[in-house]
Amino acid sequence: MTTVVSDAPPAAGAIATEADARLHLAAVYRLLAHYGMDDTIFTHASVRVPGESDTFLINPYGLLFGEITPSSLVKMSYDGELRGPSNYPANAAGYVIHSAVLQARPEISCAVHTHTRAGIALSCLEEGLLPLNQFALEFHGKVGYHDYEGVALDMDEQERLGRDLGAHPVLILRNHGLLTVGHTPAAAFYLMYYLEQAARVQMDVLATGRPYRLPPEAVARHTAGQFSTSTDPTRTGLRMWPAMLRLLDETQPGWRN
Ligand SMILES: [Zn+2]
Repeated sequence: MTTVVSDAPPAAGAIATEADARLHLAAVYRLLAHYGMDDTIFTHASVRVPGESDTFLINPYGLLFGEITPSSLVKMSYDGELRGPSNYPANAAGYVIHSAVLQARPEISCAVHTHTRAGIALSCLEEGLLPLNQFALEFHGKVGYHDYEGVALDMDEQERLGRDLGAHPVLILRNHGLLTVGHTPAAAFYLMYYLEQAARVQMDVLATGRPYRLPPEAVARHTAGQFSTSTDPTRTGLRMWPAMLRLLDETQPGWRN
């Protein structure tokens, strides 16, 4: 029997214009809210503005993630200046974290940061993310760790954030939360969604107090190599992104405004 598998990903997550960047970043915020990964008005996701070397978009500080639309996103420079009119300021810690990682990693366009219960719990564990299940194995060998320094308001923390992220798609902010970066908003959301699932499963397993079994290291490495995060990170998340946009169209009328 011949099985035909298409490797061509849809281009639905591609970003060519500022309008694209605004639409897909707004989708990230709405999806974080939909899946219970928001933290009232706090935490943040960002995307570079195409064609501009020194600007990025971030949430208007004061809106719930479920209220954010493409037009409400705030444009900032890497120097911390607001560009263009906005009824809201930007979050200072968001500026420090996102300008740090976007400048440290020129090839990525989007960063997502969360404060979920499972993500913060995981960030408090000495051992960090364990290669415990298939969700976690995608990230095996691809996780950086950043020690807690207080609320991220000091500009000199930027160098250490970039250093600790290194070339990884994932940074666990110890005692604080999770951060992912991707070539597209679709990628950064996909990585965060599955990192969150891995964190939830790990905390559930540890809560049982029962002995747990890890796959052999060779199997863990093999599995990590099977995901697009290893084979072609530019495609990460693109397969599921059209379905995510359909979900928003069906459940959150007006999100594209
Ligand atoms: Zn935070």
